Amino acid sequence: MTVSHHLTDITIQDYAAGTLSMPMETLVACHLTVCSQCRRRAEVADSIGGNLFDQAEPATVTVSAADLLARAAMAPDHAAPQTASVASPAQPGVPRPLSRLLPTGLEELDWRRIAPGIKRFNLSDQHRKYGAFQLLHLDPGVTLSAHSHNDRELTYLVQGSYSDEVGKFQVGDIADLDGHHHHQPVIDSEEPCIALIATHSPVRYSGFVGKIMQPFVGI
Ligand SMILES: [Zn+2]
Repeated sequence: MTVSHHLTDITIQDYAAGTLSMPMETLVACHLTVCSQCRRRAEVADSIGGNLFDQAEPATVTVSAADLLARAAMAPDHAAPQTASVASPAQPGVPRPLSRLLPTGLEELDWRRIAPGIKRFNLSDQHRKYGAFQLLHLDPGVTLSAHSHNDRELTYLVQGSYSDEVGKFQVGDIADLDGHHHHQPVIDSEEPCIALIATHSPVRYSGFVGKIMQPFVGI
């Protein structure tokens, strides 16, 4: 697997600091399973954070032991390998941090058709105004509506490929975009493209069709 698109320094730092949401943390963990380069960067960020902590003056403790235990329980795979291996069988090509969240294999999921050539499987039931955590199943040749973002959007490629203004994204790549990016992905693989997506707010569509479709697409 050749990984061409990586996590930004800011996302790596937020991951090491434990400040990412569970959906964002899951996507980062998926990418780290296939990218030794980002794994090394995360280890460096982790060690820098640890050194800063060691050198810090004693301060008032603002995080309780219960908070730390809860955070550890939500940490990605490497923190709880035993639980993960029991919870879900390994699925070829699906990183463990994702497969542990799926009730079935990718093709057997209860996909919901939301537009021609586009199906969705939600991994969260929160209202779309708070963002999305979902899988999209996109047929070859599908062009998504042009859009931008209010803040960070992470996309991890599970299967297939797409191209947009940023470049070509293939299995293992992660698109780590902020509010400045405006893009229009086109599915350019011969097989369906399956993408894992996490956002914190609805995307901003620039075209009329996209704006009309947004309540139905849910991203
Ligand atoms: Zn990487």
